[in-house]
Amino acid sequence: MLLTITASFSPATDLGYLLHKNPSRAQSTDLGFGKAHVFYPEVNAERCTVALLLEVDPIGLVRGRNGPAGADRKLEEYVNDRPYAASSFLSVAIARVFASAMAGTSKERPELAAQELPLEAHLAALPCHGGEGLLRRLFEPLGYRLDATQAPLDRSHPEWGMSPYFSVTLRANRRLADLLTHLYVLVPVLDDDKHYWVGDDEVEKLLRRGAGWLDSHPERDLIVRRYLRHQTSLARAALERLTAEEEPEADTLETEHAVEEQRLESRIRLGEQRIDAVLAMLKQSGAQRVLDLGCGEGHLLAALLKEKLFHEIVGMDISHRSLERASDRLRLERMPERQRERVRLIHGSLMYRDRRLEGYDAAALVEVIEHLDPPRLRAMERNVFEFARPRTVVVTTPNSEYNVRFEGLPAGRLRHRDHRFEWTRAEFERWAQDIGERFGYEPRFLPVGNEDAAVGAPTQMAVFGR
Ligand code: SAH
Repeated sequence: MLLTITASFSPATDLGYLLHKNPSRAQSTDLGFGKAHVFYPEVNAERCTVALLLEVDPIGLVRGRNGPAGADRKLEEYVNDRPYAASSFLSVAIARVFASAMAGTSKERPELAAQELPLEAHLAALPCHGGEGLLRRLFEPLGYRLDATQAPLDRSHPEWGMSPYFSVTLRANRRLADLLTHLYVLVPVLDDDKHYWVGDDEVEKLLRRGAGWLDSHPERDLIVRRYLRHQTSLARAALERLTAEEEPEADTLETEHAVEEQRLESRIRLGEQRIDAVLAMLKQSGAQRVLDLGCGEGHLLAALLKEKLFHEIVGMDISHRSLERASDRLRLERMPERQRERVRLIHGSLMYRDRRLEGYDAAALVEVIEHLDPPRLRAMERNVFEFARPRTVVVTTPNSEYNVRFEGLPAGRLRHRDHRFEWTRAEFERWAQDIGERFGYEPRFLPVGNEDAAVGAPTQMAVFGR
């Protein structure tokens, strides 16, 4: 999968400063689902072209996904267009590899980052579901001139007709950040295939990336629906917020929700009790190298760091924002070197198989599973219990039976608006037993917080050993 961007302002080599990528050096980044390579096939004062070549590992993708292993897999799950066609994977790569350019920042050339520049983007194979018509309806309102050539299914069999893939060139005077953002949102919309990453977080991303152009785009509704993969409830939520008059910043909302939950739980110091309980389990397990999966702002990481026992501590989260906050909370920048070597923050998703998570003694998922859509839990289960496979896994989640004891929580409401579910003790135990059977672990169940005779403790914890 190949994207090139050509600058023709002068000196065109300044493109390197805008992208924070040196034109004289090729660079590769591991993205979990494959590798992104950045290099410059053309560098001179008049024209400078950067190439982003993305190699997607289709086998790794399948293995990381939910569903039966081995014989039950269909051939097309292994043999598909994902390695070649521009798709949501390209968006992930753009956001990772060109993060600061996409944010519109440049240390060396801030004025250039803010300027409209003559730019040209070329996508070698863009699947366009909706044809050239839709391609034009998406990009032309944003000021792009467009050349598109549709590829036949097979050049040696013209009678088979055309493929959905287009070779596309877009030209415009735009800020580089705008060009990258438009590609980030619109490539998956045209592809309209499965994303492996639609969740509430995506609504936030779409609103953030769409700021300033999406609300007035004539195809706004189609973009939102397709970007959120026809999940009508998410699409509706996004559209409501796009049309809301006083729209709070996406991240502010997320924080508000977390604060609501904290407020509910703080009266009983539940957060601290949870960390203490998880810490005790990890110590008991004898683990020295531990993972905090969905580490959020790093409360558990801070507690782990205080214990010399833990030599290697890795926090992973899908949210960059949370990782930044964790880094601030832990004062990573100012940490003495010996301490600093013990802890690492990585950006990643529990939805993908991730080799960086293999070989650890223990993993904690503290208040994370209830943020995952039930059908997507299966992917997490395999990635944690089958692939990463630490000896001990500690999982905590709310005990929904306890909710009646929270003042100010209306009956039937979940503790946090981003929770996809909250389980009773029986539901949690059934889930954990099933994992035990499927992956060869033995779960133990422990209450966290003061246990109520009728409804149990506010938090429930399972400690899986094997
Ligand atoms: N463990 C932390 C945070 C809990 S909130 C604590 O106890 O304070 C849930 C966290 O899971 C959030 O930080 C969220 O960004 C993260 N998360 C949600 N989906 C994820 C995914 N697919 N992969 C990794 N992290 C995810």
